[in-house]
Amino acid sequence: MRFWGVRGSLPTPGSSTARYGGNTTCLELRIAGEIIIIDAGSGISPLGTALIDEFGMNPISIALLNTHTHWDHIQGFPFFIPAYMPQNRIRVIGRDPSPKSLESIFGKMMDGDNCFPIPLEGMKCKITFDHLLPDGQKEYALEKVKFSTCPTNHPGGCLAYRFDTPTGSLVFLSDHETEGPDEPRIIEFIKGADILIADTQYTPKEIETRRGWGHGCFRSVVALADTAGVKNLYMTHHDPAHNDDFMDQMLTDAKGLVFANSKMNVFAATEGQQVRF
Ligand SMILES: [Zn+2]
Ligand SMILES: [Zn+2]
Repeated sequence: MRFWGVRGSLPTPGSSTARYGGNTTCLELRIAGEIIIIDAGSGISPLGTALIDEFGMNPISIALLNTHTHWDHIQGFPFFIPAYMPQNRIRVIGRDPSPKSLESIFGKMMDGDNCFPIPLEGMKCKITFDHLLPDGQKEYALEKVKFSTCPTNHPGGCLAYRFDTPTGSLVFLSDHETEGPDEPRIIEFIKGADILIADTQYTPKEIETRRGWGHGCFRSVVALADTAGVKNLYMTHHDPAHNDDFMDQMLTDAKGLVFANSKMNVFAATEGQQVRF
C-alpha cells in the first residue's frame, strides 16, 4: 500500500505540513496484480502522474473505491489524468447515495461549466459506476480480489473497507466518529487486522466541541483498535490545523495510550509512505 493523501477536510500545502503531507485522502493498493485506489482526494493527482510514468501508453485497469462523496474524498478526480486516456479502464465503486447516484455526484463536480471546465463525458477512459449497499456487505469481488464493507458513523453515511489477502489483512476506516452507538459492529469488522488505517482527526480536547462532525479522536481509536486486536494502527485524516510538530506530539500521545499488555504498533500515515502487508 502507498499513501498519496493523508489530510482530512482540506488540502494543506506548505512548509509546516511538508513532512506528513498536505494532500487529501487517497490510498493505493496493489493486491494480486490489481490496482485498487481508495478515495480520490487531491492525492490522486500525483498518483495519476506516477501511474502514467509506470505504464506509459499501456492500458491501466483501476478499481476506485469511494468511502463517501464528501469533497475531500472526490476533489482530485477531475485531475486524474489516466481517466482522460481511452486505453484505460476505471471502475468507480462506492456507497449507494440513493436517491442520487455516484455518477450524478461525480458529474455535478465535473459540470463543464461552473465547477470544472471539462464534463465527465470528457474523460475518455472506459468508466463505470457501481453501487455498494449503504448498510455494508459481506463480500464484493473485483477481478482477483474480494473485499467487505461496513457502514461508519459519519454524517450522510460512509463505508469502511476490509481486504483479507493470503499475506495479510487491511482495513480502511475513514471517516468515522468513535464512541458512537455502532462500536461493537466496528470492532467485529476490524478484528485482528494486520493494518488498520483509521480517522484520528481530533485530540481528546478537540472532540469535546466537535461531536457529530463524524471524525475520530485518537484516544478512542487507539482503544478501539487495541480491543479488536489490531496489529498496526495508522492514524490518518489529519486535521488541516495540525502542523508537523503537532502531529509528532499526537503520535507520541497515541503511542502512550496503547494497552500495557498489547504489542500494537501505532504510526501516523505519511504521504509517500509505502508498506507491505
Ligand atoms: Zn473526510
Ligand atoms: Zn466525510
